[in-house]
Amino acid sequence: MDWREVYDLGMAPSHPQDLAPDTVVVAAGRPPREVDAPVNPPIVLSSTFFGAGTPGAGERVYGRFSNPTWDPLEDALAQLESAALPGLVYASGMAAVASAMSLVPLGGTIVVPRHSYNGSLSLVADLEKRAGITVRLADVEDTDATVALLDGADLLWLESPTNPMLEVADVRALAAAARAAGVLCVVDNTFSTPLLQRPLELGADVVVHSATKYMGGHSDVVLGAVLTSDADLRARLHGHRSLHGAIAGPFEAWLTLRGLRTMALRVERSQASAGELARRLSAHPAVESVRYPGLESDPGHARAAAQMDGFGSIVAITVAGGEAAAEAALAALRLWTPATSLGGVESLAERRRRHPGEPDSVPANLIRLSVGIENVEDLWKDLDAALGTAR
Ligand SMILES: *Cc1c(COP(=O)(O)O)cnc(C)c1O
Repeated sequence: MDWREVYDLGMAPSHPQDLAPDTVVVAAGRPPREVDAPVNPPIVLSSTFFGAGTPGAGERVYGRFSNPTWDPLEDALAQLESAALPGLVYASGMAAVASAMSLVPLGGTIVVPRHSYNGSLSLVADLEKRAGITVRLADVEDTDATVALLDGADLLWLESPTNPMLEVADVRALAAAARAAGVLCVVDNTFSTPLLQRPLELGADVVVHSATKYMGGHSDVVLGAVLTSDADLRARLHGHRSLHGAIAGPFEAWLTLRGLRTMALRVERSQASAGELARRLSAHPAVESVRYPGLESDPGHARAAAQMDGFGSIVAITVAGGEAAAEAALAALRLWTPATSLGGVESLAERRRRHPGEPDSVPANLIRLSVGIENVEDLWKDLDAALGTAR
């Protein structure tokens, strides 16, 4: 039995029967519609598979290479990201990042946004030390300057909007320039989810996700994913995952597919609240500056509108009065949770510079807000009161 056929409803991942993305999140990755069949795919707990090693037997073989519980999620993610091939799930977003970065040869060159996720920045710094890889930090808001860094490079890493500065890169222009220069383009699409931005459609070669965030959506699972339409790249990434072993647990894969079912509703709600809060925060006396690409005044607004289907649910503010005032505001929150991470149902707030790995160019008084799905007026009251104590 081919489990991939069993799980993909007969649809190749790249041909989702004309379903809209907010239907795909619900409909993809279901077991066959047979009498008494379960509506949800089962969790398969098996480290090995019958017939392993038998000539002509299936390719499942062993639990580090594949697991039937990954398949429905990997197919659903491929449909959402417009990938022609099933995705690859990993033990974490960083495992997915590390696998994608393994596409840079030893001694090669990677171009990275200077305000990437700090784990990605720490990993390239480690690769620089251990693998002789040259790291070129880019200001991705400046397209010409970023293109100039592609000369002789092997891989262009993009995040847009960046974490936590919310700078918007021109993904289409940069992916095209990378292709013309023979440079692979990888986009970390965690912030946007494929509902709001599909980098493969914008010309990228590979998409990376921390599914820990919006896909899982409930701050109860750590998981990563990589998507590509290129068979050779997928084979290399699959080989890397199988050899390095950062595989997703079956329960985590199942939980992530469960989270995906409500992702469209969650993103719709949290993004609407983020837009409203960003607008109100712009007029708040204790707030120095707001970055949110949905604000018409935001430097990234036009670019984001041209390449995204929505502006997301992350807002970055700087608090008047500096680091101490920002800390005081965080300490005064009663509904928002001061914690790292993002993309869950509950609203989180964090001063990113509390992490030693965060670049100095991120202001010490910057707070990243991950807007959840609570009532927006309750969120506003709590923020407003907490910022009041900072004044
Ligand atoms: C969280 C995050 C990661 C890392 O993902 P984990 O699941 O925590 O390993 C990578 N990129 C971005 C943009 C993130 O927000």
